[in-house]
Order: sequence, then C-alpha cells, then structure tokens
Amino acid sequence: MSIVAPESAPVSPQSLVASLAPGMRLAPARVGRPGHVQTIHIECPTWCTQNHVEDWQYDMEDIEHTGARFSVEVPTMTGDEALYEWYGRVSSDPWSSDVRMRSAHVLVGDCSREDARLTPDMTDELADRVIAYGLELRAAARVARQASQGGVSAV
Ligand SMILES: [Zn+2]
Repeated sequence: MSIVAPESAPVSPQSLVASLAPGMRLAPARVGRPGHVQTIHIECPTWCTQNHVEDWQYDMEDIEHTGARFSVEVPTMTGDEALYEWYGRVSSDPWSSDVRMRSAHVLVGDCSREDARLTPDMTDELADRVIAYGLELRAAARVARQASQGGVSAV
C-alpha cells in the first residue's frame, strides 16, 4: 500500500485511479493523532470491506485491510446463547515486515486467542477438514437420533 495523495495535494484522487493495480481501488482513510487527523486516499483491495474513515488509525502503518466476516456458531441445548464462534475473513497488513502478512491471506479465529493466519492453500486444506468434520457431525446426529428413539445404533 502506498499513500496516494492527501486531500489537500494538487493531484486529485480521480486522476490517480487509472494508475491503480488490478483489484485495487482508491479509498479515503483517516489517520493521525487526535487534533491532527487528516483524510488521505489509499490503495485498497476490492475485497476489503473496512471503512478506513470510520476506523481511523494513529499511523498509516496501522491500516490493515479486512474482508467481510463470516462465522459459524455452536449452540447448546442447555442454554440460549452459542458457546463457541469460529470466524474467518480475508486480510492483509500492507505495512508488515513479513511479506506473508502483506499478501492477502485468511484469518481464522474463535475470539479466545490470536487469530490464525492461513495462506490460500492452507485455507483450502482447512476447508476440506471442516467439510469432513461436518460429515462426522451428521453421522453423530444420526447415532444420537436413533439412540434417543430407542433404535439400535452403530458407529
Ligand atoms: Zn481496505
């Protein structure tokens, strides 16, 4: 990511749109210490849903791009609220010293610890395992259903 132009610069953001890399757009962002916040325009990936104006940062280096959050909650029959939530989203940290963090990658977390950061290949492998886990959940539901109805169950 680079600073394209502060709003007060003589070069208009519109004139810079043509020079953006594919998959990037120009987005306003607010940065600075309280009392010195300014709106600038940054290169922002088209998958980013972050509002960089509302989510102002002290420094440019704190700006990260994040995509739409998706999640699955685990309910419990002994309470009204989900006990677990597992979420994911696309992310990139364009100012990171780690090139892997600068590239688009997938965050996966459960709000209990640090988010896991996965490459696209790692995400595909995890998705395959989650699909297999889902099939095992369905098999477990069949066993529990049969058992609760007095039927014979087999694993
Ligand atoms: Zn962004």
